Amino acid sequence: MKARKRFYSIVISVIVLVGFLATSLIGYFVARDSIADRLQQEMLPLSSDNIYSEIQRDLLQPVLISSLMANDTFVIEWVSEGENDPIRMQRYLKQIQEQYQTITAFFISEKTRLYYHPEGIIKQVSEQDKADEWYFRARNLKQDYEINIDSDTADHKRLSIFVNYRVQNKQGDFIGVIGVGLSMETVTRLIENYQQRYGREIYFVNRQGEVMLQSSQYSHELHLQNKNGLEKLFTRILTSPSASVSFEAKNGNVIYLNSRLVPEFDWFLIIEQINDPASDKVEAALIINLLISLAISVVVLLVAHLALKGYQGRLETMATRDKLTGAATRQVFDSLFEQAVSRSKRYQQKMTLALLDIDHFKQVNDTFGHHQGDKVLAAVAQIIKLHIRDSDVLCRWGGEEFLLLLNECNLAHAEERLESVRQAIAAWRFHLDDTSLTVTVSAGLAEYETGESLTGLVERADKALYQAKDQGRNRLITSQQLRQA
Ligand code: GH3
Ligand code: MG
Ligand code: MG
Repeated sequence: MKARKRFYSIVISVIVLVGFLATSLIGYFVARDSIADRLQQEMLPLSSDNIYSEIQRDLLQPVLISSLMANDTFVIEWVSEGENDPIRMQRYLKQIQEQYQTITAFFISEKTRLYYHPEGIIKQVSEQDKADEWYFRARNLKQDYEINIDSDTADHKRLSIFVNYRVQNKQGDFIGVIGVGLSMETVTRLIENYQQRYGREIYFVNRQGEVMLQSSQYSHELHLQNKNGLEKLFTRILTSPSASVSFEAKNGNVIYLNSRLVPEFDWFLIIEQINDPASDKVEAALIINLLISLAISVVVLLVAHLALKGYQGRLETMATRDKLTGAATRQVFDSLFEQAVSRSKRYQQKMTLALLDIDHFKQVNDTFGHHQGDKVLAAVAQIIKLHIRDSDVLCRWGGEEFLLLLNECNLAHAEERLESVRQAIAAWRFHLDDTSLTVTVSAGLAEYETGESLTGLVERADKALYQAKDQGRNRLITSQQLRQA
């Protein structure tokens, strides 16, 4: 019984724990996946949109200024008039520089190849000079402008972003390149600003995947292709106008990457998010979930244990006590008898067994019904109980037969006591629903003999009972009387 109880407790524990564990973990993985999905499908593209529009505002302004300059009638007329009075151009450039707070403004005339600057004419560009390559590249551009990161012609130590805008007259002839320059510092500061506000890594790559613009803290590979985990994905990023990918970095972090082409620069804006800020919350939720599950499991197991114990107790009484009469059942009588035998041996005391049977009980059933018969049976048991001691054992042996084991009691004493039981029953008026009746009992008595088995003892009492019935019922017969007869 104990082993079975332990077995069921373990089975219930395993089921409850596995159940909770499974639901918690499934919930965790589903939440994590959906958050990762949301990050990749919605949050990153959304912040990419925001950053993109800010970049348009901040970085495209120089493109706009350069476009205005390229279309300024002053510039075109001044060139067609023969570039007289360079001071006027110089003043024009200075005014642009001051008005828009760019680090430089410039114009290179195709006719004279002179480099005009707010401070004057710096040089004459030449195809032979490597530093002037940009001019000849811009001259042959198919589109209106290019963005170029280069060292400043006026200050070679300073890296700047230039907008090189082609200038054409009304006839469509190319007459030079005009534009403004921004310091790289300004631009990196802009990126750092976005980076801080959005909590994401932000940088630009060109169509070849080279990192063109990045914050000063950027410490990763300068080529997309060389990034860990991106070996297979980088062509996808560089061939589509926008992409959302996730990959695992060397250190095991999952990186979510969103890219979009900024056509004005012909660069890709890349936004990276390392891991997922929400995943910490999901993990915390998992731990709380598990703790709650554990607490519930403990409570469930405790309740199950108590319920099991209660049921077990009930089952035990059910097995040991007869429901109708409250007497011991036949199943437990064996062990109760064993205990009594060892006690009688130890204390050298006699004990006597009586077998009682209600007389003509069948008639009671037949006349008043089985249900009324039950009531009589229960009442008889109660009367017997009133006449016995706590140390005696009353057992319902069969239908309307009782065994009574009288401890510390020899045959003669037992006969006396049984006689009073018999008389009490015979004198009792049993009140049924609409009538009353009396019943009698017959009993056979046998004193326990050392070494005798229960079967042997019962058999002797049964023989005496048979004799009592035979002699007209409502009487006691002892095994001794049988022997004498
Ligand atoms: P006698 O013992 O005097 O020879 O006659 P009897 O009519 O009592 O005969 P017997 O002991 O053989 O029959 C027992 C009857 O008791 C038969 C059965 O219907 C009835 N009986 C047995 N168990 C129950 C019970 O739990 N409830 C009721 N109502 N009747 C029972
Ligand atoms: Mg009987
Ligand atoms: Mg009977």
